[in-house]
Amino acid sequence: MTAGAAVCYHRRGGGRAVRRRAAGGCRLGGRVIAIRRVLVYGDPLLRRKAAPVGGDLGALRPLVEDMFETMYAEPGIGLAAPQVGVSERLAVIAAVADDDAGRNVGRPVVLVNPEILSRTSDLVLFDEGCLSVPDITAGVERPRAVRFRYTDLEGATHEREAAGLLARVVQHEVDHLDGILFVDRLSLLKRRLLRKRLQRLGVVARA
Ligand code: ZN
Repeated sequence: MTAGAAVCYHRRGGGRAVRRRAAGGCRLGGRVIAIRRVLVYGDPLLRRKAAPVGGDLGALRPLVEDMFETMYAEPGIGLAAPQVGVSERLAVIAAVADDDAGRNVGRPVVLVNPEILSRTSDLVLFDEGCLSVPDITAGVERPRAVRFRYTDLEGATHEREAAGLLARVVQHEVDHLDGILFVDRLSLLKRRLLRKRLQRLGVVARA
């Protein structure tokens, strides 16, 4: 777990993001919230199947706060713990629409031990990107809607359905927990076209 880039984003009145520099992180409520380093394609930890989370879920709170800060700063709409070097089944997702029309925008959500219970058979194509695969986006086909289960930080288990962007992000983040990146889901042809750029990322990750 590597803590600490020096840039912090606070949200103040009106939801406007205010950028402020602070050495080693930013102090909110007495705790330093850090923007963590995001692992990049080629790092072996991104390929590991993450371990189920157990024990005191409240102890995850500092990590979850850092993950939200890191996700918003990048900016991204989802982040899985392995991306910040923690091989555990935990992910955060920003407020995104959970219906096909893009209207029903929910709240940010923390997923502990998420599981996809069922998927629709109809697939939709959507351009995806990933904080661990910088500067590359590509159309990925995935089931349009999913039913999924997860535990929250209070220990309550939820089961819900989602379509739209939330279904997309949940599938992308659960893939991370299984060591799968979105580029693995591209056609052979698309992957061949991206091969050189992916190899370069791999070299950067090892540097
Ligand atoms: Zn990703």
